[in-house]
Amino acid sequence: MGEWSEYFEDFPEENPANWVNGEFNPRLAQEIRNQEDRLRATTNKARSEINAVIMKAWLETKSKAFLLTEDCPQCGLTKLNTYKISDTFYLCECQDCGIHGRGETHSLALKSTFDAIGDGLDWRDNVI
Ligand SMILES: [Zn+2]
Repeated sequence: MGEWSEYFEDFPEENPANWVNGEFNPRLAQEIRNQEDRLRATTNKARSEINAVIMKAWLETKSKAFLLTEDCPQCGLTKLNTYKISDTFYLCECQDCGIHGRGETHSLALKSTFDAIGDGLDWRDNVI
C-alpha cells in the first residue's frame, strides 16, 4: 500500500482517485471526497443524536416500568430488576452480572433469564 501511494505521488494522473467523470482533476476529486467525508460525519452525528434520544426515551420508559427487584438466578445478588414495559412485555435485567431475559409475563421473563445462565449475556452490551 505504501509503495502504491508513493507511486501515485510521482504519477498522480495514474491514480484513479484523481479522476472525475473521465477527467483528470485531483482538486475536484479531493473536494468530492471532502464533501463525502462531511456528509458521512453529518450522518454519523445525526445518527448518534437519534440514538441518544432513543436511549433517553428508553431509560425513561424503563424507569416508569420498574416493577420489582429480586434475587438474580446467576450471581445470587438481589439485583435482578424486572420491568413491565407493557402488558405483554416483561424484562429482567441484573444490575450486577448483566444477565437478562424477556417474556410475555413476569414468569416467562424470569424463565428466559434462567435459560440464559452461563451464556455470558450482559444487557449493557446492547441496551436497545
Ligand atoms: Zn446477576
